[in-house]
Amino acid sequence: MRTVVDDAVVTLRRDFSEADRVIELLTCRHGKVSAFAARAKSSHKRFGGGLELGSWLKVWLRPKVSALWRLEKVELKESFPQLRQSLEATAKAMYALELCREICQEGEPMGAIFPSVMRLLKSLQQAPHAVAPLMKFELALLGYAGWSPQLHLCERCHAEILGQSAMVSLPKGVVCMSCSKHVEEQLVLSKEALETLWMLQRQAAVVLSAKPREALPFQFAKQFPSEAQIFQMRSFLDSFWFFHLGKKLKARTFMEEMAL
Ligand SMILES: [Zn+2]
Repeated sequence: MRTVVDDAVVTLRRDFSEADRVIELLTCRHGKVSAFAARAKSSHKRFGGGLELGSWLKVWLRPKVSALWRLEKVELKESFPQLRQSLEATAKAMYALELCREICQEGEPMGAIFPSVMRLLKSLQQAPHAVAPLMKFELALLGYAGWSPQLHLCERCHAEILGQSAMVSLPKGVVCMSCSKHVEEQLVLSKEALETLWMLQRQAAVVLSAKPREALPFQFAKQFPSEAQIFQMRSFLDSFWFFHLGKKLKARTFMEEMAL
């Protein structure tokens, strides 16, 4: 079978034997791929230290005959070295990659999500503490999965809701305070938190529409959100992921333990 060449990011690696490794990749055109890398630990010629988690690679893959593809060689495009110097940036990157591993399927092209993973890793490298890039990425990923929450209208009475506080309503979005007695979740979004999520979602939609050049770096309106608003936005996203994935991801638990 013909070797395919693709762009990929390393999301997981594990030892297969003394010399070999199994590498999990998110590829641009072939989705999630588990690949056998023979002599991965010793072959600098073929792998050249490019199999670190989060590395962006050009990969040469032989289609699988059994459970695994075969990784023939890689060319390192970007290793994001500063990412690994910050625990916060590393934890957020691992969380984003774990989300991708949950959402992306083998054989399913990642479309606009792949470049947005690269943009996220670059921005985490430059600004590990920034809140917006990861949240925007999560909203893009929810959209890619077909789970985009509706944020500008009450999910029950369909009234325009921006400019007011709202209550989270799974799985569709939010409800106005008048309709809040009908929802189980008691997660409040202040009007500022709701507005910020909505703006981030609009930015994410531009990314998904494959016109990333129009996606300007996100600036928070007026002033940076307070800790309370950030907490509400984080809880909102966590509740949606938990609903759809049916579990809390390990990397998210680690972020919580690190108070990130
Ligand atoms: Zn309502």
